[in-house]
Amino acid sequence: MTFSDLGLSDAVVSAVTDAGYTTPTPIQEQAIPHVLMGRDILGCAQTGTGKTASFTLPMIDILAAGRAKARMPRSLILCPTRELAAQVADNFVKYGKNNQLSMALLIGGVAFSEQEQKLDRGVDVLIATPGRLLDHFERGRILLTDVKVLVIDEADRMLDMGFIPDVERIVSLLPRIRQTLFFSATISKEIRKLADAFLINPKEITV
Ligand code: AMP
Repeated sequence: MTFSDLGLSDAVVSAVTDAGYTTPTPIQEQAIPHVLMGRDILGCAQTGTGKTASFTLPMIDILAAGRAKARMPRSLILCPTRELAAQVADNFVKYGKNNQLSMALLIGGVAFSEQEQKLDRGVDVLIATPGRLLDHFERGRILLTDVKVLVIDEADRMLDMGFIPDVERIVSLLPRIRQTLFFSATISKEIRKLADAFLINPKEITV
């Protein structure tokens, strides 16, 4: 199995190849074709399985056509920590190098002004921790009504860190018609309940 076999564009396959990867991991093999078809995903996968590329690669292709309006991001990736958010951003830079997607990273500990300027220029891929995203929303600097794809990464860590009320609030600001990709290392009863609330007929993948 190759990345091309999964239905990814030549632009993305070429970027992955340049990164040194030729064979998809099991989560990539199982998730990517469904993500490209627009299906919701419930992925049970630990860090180290290649889960990040399982959503970044197809999202680059999904977002390749179209253009973001000022302050209205076209996709949103929610991460529990600044470090994870920064890693996801690195993935988009690496795998999106043959595309012209705009990206912003909204994490705490950084001045608002630079993040606001990026939002004003229009953002295809917004990667954020929940608190900082809501800060921007409260300041009236961002609208989430144009988000077509939502990713919730490491949902179990969001739960452990007490972020679920923030995540629920953010999801309530998104269009109901959207694609949602939900990842967690473990699927407890509470995580299952959240997944049921956020996802529609998801493809479930456990690796
Ligand atoms: P993740 O599970 O997303 O944190 O990825 C774990 C590590 O696997 C990262 O260093 C990736 O760069 C790497 N990786 C992602 N996809 C592949 C692949 N298809 N083959 C080998 N390594 C990969």
